[in-house]
Amino acid sequence: MPDKLSYKIQFGDTYGVVNPAMLHAHLTLLRKFKMLEQSDKCFDARYLLRAQERYVLWLDLLRTQNFDQEVVPIPPLVPVNFIELLNNFYSLIKYEIWESNGSHIDPASERIWTEKTKQPWVLNPNDSSDFKITCPWCKSNIHMQWEKYVKLMQTSDANENCPICYAQHSIETLSAKRFIDDISAWNKDKSKLIGGTLIDRKDGSYSEELSIRRSQLLFTANIIDVLTNCDRYEWVHITEQLNLQIKNVKEEIIQRVISAYSGIPLPFSIDLVSAVHRQRRFTEKIVKNKWIDRLEVQENSITRYLKFLSLIKEKSNIFLVPTFDIDLCWHTHQLHASFYRSFTKKHIGRIINHDDTSPKELLLINFEATAQAWNKKYHEPYALYPHGEEPCGGESCQENCQNCQQCRQDCDVEACYCD
Ligand SMILES: [Zn+2]
Repeated sequence: MPDKLSYKIQFGDTYGVVNPAMLHAHLTLLRKFKMLEQSDKCFDARYLLRAQERYVLWLDLLRTQNFDQEVVPIPPLVPVNFIELLNNFYSLIKYEIWESNGSHIDPASERIWTEKTKQPWVLNPNDSSDFKITCPWCKSNIHMQWEKYVKLMQTSDANENCPICYAQHSIETLSAKRFIDDISAWNKDKSKLIGGTLIDRKDGSYSEELSIRRSQLLFTANIIDVLTNCDRYEWVHITEQLNLQIKNVKEEIIQRVISAYSGIPLPFSIDLVSAVHRQRRFTEKIVKNKWIDRLEVQENSITRYLKFLSLIKEKSNIFLVPTFDIDLCWHTHQLHASFYRSFTKKHIGRIINHDDTSPKELLLINFEATAQAWNKKYHEPYALYPHGEEPCGGESCQENCQNCQQCRQDCDVEACYCD
């Protein structure tokens, strides 16, 4: 049994933090994802793009069916679902499924999915059929060969013309069109939310009220008029127009709105396929480091994660970089988004963002700074586990031995490329 007391070292009340069962479930899921990676790059891109489409279908299913929280079906097993879950849209991973049988078997979910979407539960990586897309201009349903679709979605200067209305489809025009359609819809119904306006960057809280207020300041009648009544689907033009509003709103809001749309043709505020690629660096570590499966290691990791959160609370001016074991707890915690939000809000005072786009150099520098802050506060080594199978002595290793030095270089820092 996990030693609950050890979790309480840093925070008296540890309700809503992760436990070894959650870690185990998450590890099982990540290893399944690893198995879904296609060795051929083109096939892998095709697979992820299909996964992304299926994810939209799943979200539509949730929206239209209004499931009770207890009976929400689990999504089909595609890596993209997971990324979106990580980003706190839904907290629906039923980890019990992974905890109990390490599998992805849930007949009720499968039945609902196949009945409602007419899609197979398991996505066939060899599916070479055309992609079916709806032209956002003329609304025609278009078939596109998968090779063309993959190229269109992966190459910034690739383009195809709609065979019906001849509008040019490219990442640029499609994402600009999505943005302009969204602000047109907002103009008709002011309760609609615009990407990039919802989250408060300072404390991670979200406020629909604030989002609406920001949209009202940013999208003045003049801007709406200029953007919706001209046929320019170009981000240079949109950015120019939005920047005219700097007197009304902070430049940061404008940048956030632009980054939530620019280059993203699908209805998400991040590029999910890129996010999957970043996540895979973390998954790689999981697959390599089997020692993380050991219960005593996991319990220790949870304690260390709590210590890490405590350090975040104290050192709000430093960008702290987690070790691999702490990072596993952190990722797992975020999967349980409502736990994560309420726990970090209550104990840290804000909802901690997890930025996985930082450059390697920054991570290396900040990892050193984190290790120093950790040593100073806890008087124990920060990086505990070497690159390989076994912990190098865990907390008993006080010598900062060769293994510890080695693991800082080889294991932890490298593991944190994704953070
Ligand atoms: Zn068209």
